[in-house]
Amino acid sequence: MQTDSKTYSRLSIVQGDITTQTVDAIVNAANNSLLGGGGVDGAIHRAAGPGLLKECRTLGGCETGSAKITKGYNLPANYVIHTVGPVWQEGANNEDALLAKCYRSCFTLAGKHGIKSIAFPSISTGVYRFPVDRASRIALKEIYHELVTNIKLERVIVICFDNSTFDAYLSAEKELSSKK
Ligand code: ADP
Repeated sequence: MQTDSKTYSRLSIVQGDITTQTVDAIVNAANNSLLGGGGVDGAIHRAAGPGLLKECRTLGGCETGSAKITKGYNLPANYVIHTVGPVWQEGANNEDALLAKCYRSCFTLAGKHGIKSIAFPSISTGVYRFPVDRASRIALKEIYHELVTNIKLERVIVICFDNSTFDAYLSAEKELSSKK
């Protein structure tokens, strides 16, 4: 894949809390019901307020690898894109492809809504136990691909909540950028 310095300058990997990000859309690592959960899902619902759950109730859930969009309510972000990552099952259930599909589904929805800046959490690497070294490579590969092919996308931020996630994404970035 061809990437250049412009591609890299549109990507940031930061440690922080996704609910405070001032971007057009934040991504939620949700579950199939879309009715709220723990981890980043719980944090987003708490920060967005009850309007978010009300809208989520109208969506009829979401398949693993797919995504649905809502408004951002009390969040600084205008939209929340809810995607459902795969639960890690020792790699026996197409998890790599499903995780990649989550990122692609989010970008498809972002494109449809004119979203120019988007923040992702580390999908599936919490309660869903996807190994973060592996997940970070998949995530960044899909993000780079989108940045290269979609010049309308101005900014992608990967928000890492804890140190070990942050380190994993930085290593994956180093590894992938050295292959350019
Ligand atoms: P999943 O069920 O997809 O594994 P989790 O929410 O359990 O989702 O975890 C996904 C990642 O989100 C983990 O790295 C977790 O530490 C992180 N996380 C939890 N809260 C936040 C937050 N407020 N902002 C960003 N990331 C968060």
